[in-house]
Parts: sequence; C-alpha cells; structure tokens
Amino acid sequence: MKVIQDPQAMSNYAQGLRRRGKSIGFVPTMGYLHAGHLSLIKRARKETEVVVISIFVNPAQFTPREDFKKYPRDFKRDRKLSKDSGVDVIFNPKPSQMYAQDYATYINVERLSKVLCGRSRPGHFRGVTTVVAKLFNIVKPTISYFGQKDAQQAILIRKMVKDLNMDTKIKVLPIVRENDGLAMSSRNKYLSPEERKDAKILFQSLQEAKKMIKCKERNSSRIISSIKKILVSKKSAKIDYVEIVDACSLRPQKRLEGQALIALAVWIGKTRLIDNMIVKAKDR
Ligand code: AMP
Repeated sequence: MKVIQDPQAMSNYAQGLRRRGKSIGFVPTMGYLHAGHLSLIKRARKETEVVVISIFVNPAQFTPREDFKKYPRDFKRDRKLSKDSGVDVIFNPKPSQMYAQDYATYINVERLSKVLCGRSRPGHFRGVTTVVAKLFNIVKPTISYFGQKDAQQAILIRKMVKDLNMDTKIKVLPIVRENDGLAMSSRNKYLSPEERKDAKILFQSLQEAKKMIKCKERNSSRIISSIKKILVSKKSAKIDYVEIVDACSLRPQKRLEGQALIALAVWIGKTRLIDNMIVKAKDR
C-alpha cells in the first residue's frame, strides 16, 4: 500500500494508472475510519482494480465555530485498517497542499446546499463540493463511493457531477449502524457513556416513523411530530431539524409521495448527529 501526500504526485500516479487502462475506485474520507468507511472500501475493492482512499480533514467544510481542530485523527490506525481492507493508495495531503495561501475557487450547488444541514451549517456544502471536485481532479476515479449516512452530501455530489460533466460514476451505499441502531460516525467518539446511550434515539425515532408509514400514515407533519416527541424524550437531545423532503430535489413534502427522505439532525449534548431514512413507494 502506498501513502501519497503530494497532490501532484497523486495526480501523476492516477494518470499512469488510467493510461494503462486500470479502473480506479475512490473513497473520500476524513479518516478515523470505522465500519461505515470500510463498507465503501470493500465495495470499491470488488468493483475496481485500484482502490484509492483520501484521508483529509477538510478545513473548508467546517464553519468557524465547528470542530475542525478537535476532529478525531489517528493516521496510524487508519493506515492499518486501510491495509487490512485492501486499499492500494492512501492520499493524505496537508491543508496547505490543497489550499494555497491565495486559494480562490469554490464550487457551489445552488439551492440544494442551502436546505437541511446547509441551513444550520452555512458554507459547509460549498467546502464539501469544492474539496470533492479537487479530489476527483487529482485521483481521476472511475467509480467514487459515498455513504447514504450523509444523504444530502451524496445528492449534492451527484448533482455537481452531472452539472459539470465530471467523468466519474457515483455509487451511494447503505448506512452502517452499531448494534443498537446508531449510525456509525467518527463524531460518535465525542459522546459520553450516558450520551452514547441516548444517541440511539435518532434511529428509534426513524423506526417509529417507519411503523406509522406501514400503518398508512401519509401526513408528513404528523410523522414529524411523532419523531420530535420521541427525540425530546431524552434529556440530552436538542433537535436541529426533522424534515420530510423529496429524495432527489430535497423539496419539502406535505404528504409522502415518490421517494421521500426523512432526515434529521439532533444535538446530543455538544455533539451534532445526523441520520435519515428513504421511504420508497414499495415500502408503503
Ligand atoms: P467522513 O469521513 O465522515 O467524511 O465520511 C466519508 C464517507 O463515508 C462519506 O461518503 C460518508 O457518507 C461515508 N460514511 C460515513 N459514515 C457512514 C456510515 N455509518 N455508513 C455508511 N457510510 C458512511
């Protein structure tokens, strides 16, 4: 397994691979790897010849008061997990190598970047789409793998790739969860033991929504109310948002139809967690 820090060296290496007709599977991450990341790596391993992951805590996607500095990092552990999962290349640039002093170019997906998490994290998605576009240019992936855990991010990236005619295929894989249903996330590390117990309420509230929908409930505000009621039953939980939107356009749905995305963001103590569920017509 190779570790490459320099973007130009990564770009040259990827160019060589593509010239030799090799397919590149790419998994962008911020590191502190868990089973969610590994599921993406495993799929890339199956479907492509050379697997590249990036480990880069991207300063551009953190708003000023967020956790950029304290975001968990453990490169040694990530390197071992990557090697054991069959990664061929870790691309691990420094922020100064990705953003020169005079850096000035950003990508913004209009409207989609302003709703849901975009409302509470202004500028976040501009940072995400910018870094992912840069990573695509550097790594030149044939297929790029993302997690449904970050549903809005995946939708924005698909849109960017389509709108800007980018030459990579996007695959979005299911959310990997802990035994009690909590969606795996590097940020789960911030939770105290008590908060960790409370955090399963996100998944439980989505399960309740699923039950209501099975029992023919279609009214979004009634479903949202039930979810909120369950969430606030935990003292440490403070709701950022609970919304039901169209799974492609992210426009609010008053009644469930087509593919609906139930998305929520909840503070558990000082940690902001997200989770979501897609409801397809056949599930209803
Ligand atoms: P991150 O390191 O948090 O930026 O995540 C890197 C990639 O892994 C993104 O595409 C995430 O959506 C995906 N991911 C993170 N957590 C999970 C999870 N629990 N299940 C599936 N994919 C995940």
